[in-house]
Amino acid sequence: ERGRLARLRHTPAVTLDGERIELLANIEMPEDSPGALEAGAVGVGLFRSEFLFMNRAGNLPDEEEQYDAYRRAVEAMKGLPVTIRTVDIGADKPLEGMSSSELRHESVLNPALGLRAIRWSLSEPSMFRRQLRALFRAAVHGPVKILIPMLASQREIRQTLENIAHVQRQLTDAGKPFGQCELGAMIEVPAAALTMPIFLRHFDFVSIGTNDLIQYTLAIDRADEAVAHLYDPWHPAVLQLLHTTIAQARAAGKGVSVCGEMAGDPAFTELLLSMGLRSFSMHPTQIASVKQRVLRADTRRLAPLLDQVLSCEDPEAACTQALLTGAAAI
Ligand code: PEP
Ligand code: MG
Repeated sequence: ERGRLARLRHTPAVTLDGERIELLANIEMPEDSPGALEAGAVGVGLFRSEFLFMNRAGNLPDEEEQYDAYRRAVEAMKGLPVTIRTVDIGADKPLEGMSSSELRHESVLNPALGLRAIRWSLSEPSMFRRQLRALFRAAVHGPVKILIPMLASQREIRQTLENIAHVQRQLTDAGKPFGQCELGAMIEVPAAALTMPIFLRHFDFVSIGTNDLIQYTLAIDRADEAVAHLYDPWHPAVLQLLHTTIAQARAAGKGVSVCGEMAGDPAFTELLLSMGLRSFSMHPTQIASVKQRVLRADTRRLAPLLDQVLSCEDPEAACTQALLTGAAAI
């Protein structure tokens, strides 16, 4: 089995009916890029840039250090696209040594609902602009896509775009070379999933963060073990939001991928394909098992699966049953 998975590495991920599926890697550091290529990833779908900011006793990486890290990641991917998410600091990913005015992580009861991700970036514009400049400069060396975490409102979108326009002016005025980047929004707050037309108007693509989308939809703190048993990717509300988000992005002709844990869990591969998903980003170790499912899937036959799963009270059982029956029919 191990040898067979290894051989799968360079087999293109194409379904039985010829649909090409993009399997991308989630990485935390530029050094993870070679491993992503080796696992057969056709790009990086999520570079969690906050790992450059963590475990360093309060000093943050300056523009040059970030530029260097992003450039190394881009060069290591040899021309494949690298999606870099702006810092997602806060909640389960605190910064050490920062004063409470900079990050009130420990002073609030609900850090998951607090100053994290894009909220923190917008509250620290010079930090945010340093990162954006480094990203646009790294794009000179290969395709960089910029992904913004945890957006919930039109106001945050507007402020984000203003910061981007500002750094592009700064780089132009300073005569520094920079590239163009596609801009994407993470859909990981129900408010975003429910107002997709606004997001699709302003962004080139969206990436669904199911880890947080589940947390915020079900009101289950990802970090609280006392409620871990209630954390349920199969909850019908989660599946509805996924389905409508993917469908709206596709209808608008915009790129859509899933970069939360669900994308790397083979139990969801056929269901996500049935929703129209064609781009999955996951930990590199998951790529081979998801690819196996893709290679055996026929997307033309998956419509009944989606109907059954979305219309019943126990989607997990319905999915298992439908796949068993489908497999028997082939
Ligand atoms: C997610 O929320 O699904 C996601 C990919 O982001 P993170 O796990 O880093 O919060
Ligand atoms: Mg998230």
